Amino acid sequence: MPPELPLPRVGTGVDVHRLTEQRPLWVAGLYWPDEPRGLDGHSDADVVCHAVCDALLAAAGLGDLGTNVGTSDPRWAGASGTDLLAEIARRVAAAGFAVGNASVQLVGSVPRLGARRAEAEELLTRVVGAPVSLSATTTDGLGLTGRGDGLAAIATALVVPVGSVEV
Ligand code: MG
Repeated sequence: MPPELPLPRVGTGVDVHRLTEQRPLWVAGLYWPDEPRGLDGHSDADVVCHAVCDALLAAAGLGDLGTNVGTSDPRWAGASGTDLLAEIARRVAAAGFAVGNASVQLVGSVPRLGARRAEAEELLTRVVGAPVSLSATTTDGLGLTGRGDGLAAIATALVVPVGSVEV
């Protein structure tokens, strides 16, 4: 294989946030009004969006979400998960990468994604500008996600070097 051929690159991202009373639940860019608890964090703590951000950044070799949009930066105070995802997708493109796709799995017992999976995938796909697939699993009652203490998400992204582009 010629060395100048641009090879695709993969990246991994994981995020975990605590479920707490008196917070709205935002997961996968959607508001879940029937859930009595939401995720705690500086932002909306959308674990799905945050995991995809980290996967995209890792694939592009751009570090992680904390180093890109630190919680101490007032520009990102209160940013939604989709706000952050849009910004990270912009930075990945600016660094010369096209996103091939991303896959993200929510780990936890809430919310029940099934009925809104297509809606979430369409939203995330629009924000990233490439296909994003979303799945969910539980942990058989075990661990922090099984006890209901919090939610986790694990993402993989694939990017292809395409050279510098104006974004
Ligand atoms: Mg997070």
